[in-house]
Amino acid sequence: MRKRLLSLMAGAGAAGLALAVSLGVAGTAGATGAGAPARAAACAPAQVVGNGGFESGTSPWTASSGVITSGGGQSAHSGSAFAWLNGYGSSHTDTLSQSVAIPAGCSAASLTVWVHVDTAETTTTTAYDKLTVKLGSGTLATYSNLNAGTGYVQRTFDVSAYLGQNVSLAFSGTEDSGLQTSFVLDDVSLTTSGDGTPPPTTPPPTTPPPTTPPPADSTRTPAAPGYTVSLSSDATGVTWTGHESVTFTNASPSPLGDVYLRLWDNYHGSCPTTPITVTNVSGGTAGALSVGCTALDITLPAPLAQGQSGTVGFDLRIVVPSGADRFGRDGAFSFIGNALPLLAIRDGAGWHLDPYTNNGESFYSLAADFRVTLDHPTGLQVPATGTSVDTPGASGRTVTTATATKVRDFAWAAGAFSKVSGTSPAGVKVNVYAVSGISSANAQSMLTTSISAVDAHAGRFGAYPYAEVDAVLDNNFWFGGMEYPGFVLDLVDSTALTHELGHQWWYGIVGDDEYNNPWLDESFADYSTDLALGKTGTNCWSSVSWASSSEKITNSMAYWDAHSSRYSTVVYGYGKCALHDLRRLIGDSAMTSLLRSYAQAHWYGVSTTAEFKAAAQAATSTDLTSFWSTHRIDG
Ligand SMILES: [Zn+2]
Repeated sequence: MRKRLLSLMAGAGAAGLALAVSLGVAGTAGATGAGAPARAAACAPAQVVGNGGFESGTSPWTASSGVITSGGGQSAHSGSAFAWLNGYGSSHTDTLSQSVAIPAGCSAASLTVWVHVDTAETTTTTAYDKLTVKLGSGTLATYSNLNAGTGYVQRTFDVSAYLGQNVSLAFSGTEDSGLQTSFVLDDVSLTTSGDGTPPPTTPPPTTPPPTTPPPADSTRTPAAPGYTVSLSSDATGVTWTGHESVTFTNASPSPLGDVYLRLWDNYHGSCPTTPITVTNVSGGTAGALSVGCTALDITLPAPLAQGQSGTVGFDLRIVVPSGADRFGRDGAFSFIGNALPLLAIRDGAGWHLDPYTNNGESFYSLAADFRVTLDHPTGLQVPATGTSVDTPGASGRTVTTATATKVRDFAWAAGAFSKVSGTSPAGVKVNVYAVSGISSANAQSMLTTSISAVDAHAGRFGAYPYAEVDAVLDNNFWFGGMEYPGFVLDLVDSTALTHELGHQWWYGIVGDDEYNNPWLDESFADYSTDLALGKTGTNCWSSVSWASSSEKITNSMAYWDAHSSRYSTVVYGYGKCALHDLRRLIGDSAMTSLLRSYAQAHWYGVSTTAEFKAAAQAATSTDLTSFWSTHRIDG
């Protein structure tokens, strides 16, 4: 995916998210009342935000130009000054932050901020302009033009998890080139309260650390996952309940004592209130949710030695939130990406428990087999990863059984889509599903695009190995498209659709760690799109202009989340141009065989930047050292 028209996911589902936040205002001030410990150390309540009313100049805030102000058409919640992010009506990012030291010794901490949003946008469905509230590495909330209203609204967050930490409190507003949205903040405070923490006679409840010590080897494990899922939907296809189990093998010489499930879509909730619920875990002992409720540690009954297999199972409940998103519903149509819990990967770097990113993808999983049974009302179609067989269910219901082998994820949608199908000259079945707002002519045109793209990519990188691919179209997506194995979401946009189908190879068949190496899928998908559309990127490198010495094509999503306005330009634009330049340097024929052999070498596997660079160097007698440094391809 890419920016507004291709992937930047910065406030996806902001409306639903913000609603959840405001309902979850909790301020769950910890251990007061019956559950309070009988003996507790003293808690000295404290307020730790400096100059939270912005009445004392700018210190200790760090803010972009013009943010802390006292006029210009906005007004304060109290006093005369406030912080005003964005409001330009042009592409613009504003930031506001300070570091806060949250003392230990109390049992609760609560962040309050008064927020006013006004906008000239008229959409009621699309989050064009966004404000993100972060504490440390955690995102507390995302607001957008969809949250506009008169006056200030008080937003309160339970931040007890940060007690005893020094962290950054940061607000970041991004505005697109269209109509203005202003995010106005005032009276920011962070207070500690509650009883003192009990003396540590017993260990405190453990939250799994984000990573465990690295294993002694770099083998990716747990390997060869096999997922068996059975879900039944409500009448609308919004709520799905049932069971999932996954069998896996420890491929590593290091014992495997636990596994982690990634519950990615819990990003779209207000942790601990989450849209993905896992209960009744069998085959192991569930620990606490971590990483913003997106990771669940399951300790196995005994560590698995190399070659041994295990199975964990659990009850699963999925509630699709509102919002035309990769996990969201647009009217009567639900899009259900990243909803099935998947196994995290442990390798030489330890467990990969990276956070969800709304600017792109964090998803990193090994090729797996899926058998997914979806019991749904007959009036709903359920396009899905893999190939599907429908059988009659209970009265008025249909059971769709989808099977897929060697895929990294499984996604589906539900709704009364219109459907057109065709078969490519190379024999790939292509289905285009469209929501009710899309004309049959547009659906037919996207079918033609899909057929042409899938064969073009297959001709260059290797035959498409799955029997069919589904493209699900909705012009209300705020992004251009999103890729899943055998299943893509897209606008009516041939470039975006060709890009998402390119991901069937780059990310899907040839996997990568999308959080740490986003260029390995995005630059390659965009380069593939150019080739499929006959674009050669002539002179494209002459327009490259780096924002800083630390900006590189190969930076991780951690970097791009902090520099989101540059993600699309560098990773998609400069990235594909670098590949065009590499082609010009080593020659068309060498580049063609390089990409084909590189794909074959990592077919159903995982590639790294170092492996690509080695393959490229092996394809030419030209020393590529200076090419990599000029094009800022590190790794
Ligand atoms: Zn993409």
